[in-house]
Amino acid sequence: MAKSKVMYVDRKVWPRYSMLDKLELLWKKSGLSKAVQKNHRVIIKTHFGNYGNLMHLRPALLRKIVDLVKSKEALPILAESCGLGYGTGLYGGRSTAAEYGRMAAANGFTMGSMGAPIIMLDGYWGTDTFDVPIKGSHLEKVAVGAALRDADIVIMFTHFKGHGGTGMGGALKNLGIGCVGKYSKAMMHAPSGPQVNPEECKGAECSKPCIRVCPTRCITVDPKIEIDMNRCIRCVHCASVCRRIAKADAISFDWGEEGAVERMIENALGVIRGVGKDRIYYINVALDISEACDCVPFAPQALVPDIGIFASRDPVAIDAACLDMVNQAVPISTSTAGELKPGDDKFSAACPWPDRATGIRTPFFHHQTQLDYAEKLDLGTRSYTLKQVDEGKPPWGP
Ligand code: SF4
Ligand code: SF4
Repeated sequence: MAKSKVMYVDRKVWPRYSMLDKLELLWKKSGLSKAVQKNHRVIIKTHFGNYGNLMHLRPALLRKIVDLVKSKEALPILAESCGLGYGTGLYGGRSTAAEYGRMAAANGFTMGSMGAPIIMLDGYWGTDTFDVPIKGSHLEKVAVGAALRDADIVIMFTHFKGHGGTGMGGALKNLGIGCVGKYSKAMMHAPSGPQVNPEECKGAECSKPCIRVCPTRCITVDPKIEIDMNRCIRCVHCASVCRRIAKADAISFDWGEEGAVERMIENALGVIRGVGKDRIYYINVALDISEACDCVPFAPQALVPDIGIFASRDPVAIDAACLDMVNQAVPISTSTAGELKPGDDKFSAACPWPDRATGIRTPFFHHQTQLDYAEKLDLGTRSYTLKQVDEGKPPWGP
């Protein structure tokens, strides 16, 4: 396979030449400004962060992309997808359009501040999807967010950082988790679905919140819980409310099933097939790079200094380029990668989930598995040419 092109702007800025100006330069140089045309519906797929995580993408970066799309008289749409589980509390979760909208607003993302509609690709419940058949080693179909069908152009606008479950949160993860409905999120995380323990069900004593939050109404409690697995989409809502509201343990999921990273990449394959490779552009923002995903309600110290913003048509190459530059960087001494040196694998050593009993962090290499398996499935190549597009003197205003 030929090498893929990756472009980037670094993190150096000057008065009147900010990272927003550099993002605009990348928009022009990467071909996006030519690809987006009048009246195009442009879905900008991103992540609005969990409340309490202060390292998620800054709203101004998204606003800048929205304004660039509008400058072409096209129609920008900011998009995310519903998360698994069902939240409780003020900023309890990201599991429905309403919950996520509330959290996005708390983090500064509203239709007013962004100047564009904010939608969930997979609708209110995370069930508005279309099936794309694949022949993976694990999966036979992928439930892709239905709104993607309406896009002329999809910009995968991704915060590049680590991830406690998959090693790395980049373009591939934004495709394989970020663009699929709850069914396919669950087929990645916990494909066996809900395990029912009727003895723990409170039955008539309970107000049955599990029935109310089940999007497919496949639960009966008579006198104890039963689930019609032919209709269950594995959304985890029932287990969330059973534990948090009913204070019971009648429904559980196995979150440790082997092969999750490969299943995520198979999801990404389904998304690319369902949307069409030619319509997808990738931008990775490699700023505020901690080992934790934006989906958790905290963010540890960054592992390395900010690197810049990348663009490519290849999701494997752009993630590989970002990962290589993270690994080449000198780590921040106060971070969990502080004792490493340039060339060391920062994400493997900085797994944020130490063993509960021993407190020891075991190195993991799921980020390498992502790239290897994506290359094997022909989603792109780890072989790339990297071009910095902001060399030379910046424009200098008065
Ligand atoms: S929420 Fe839990 S305890 Fe209550 S009815 Fe449902 S399964 Fe039973
Ligand atoms: S039974 Fe299935 S579809 Fe219904 S809430 Fe539970 S996991 Fe979701």
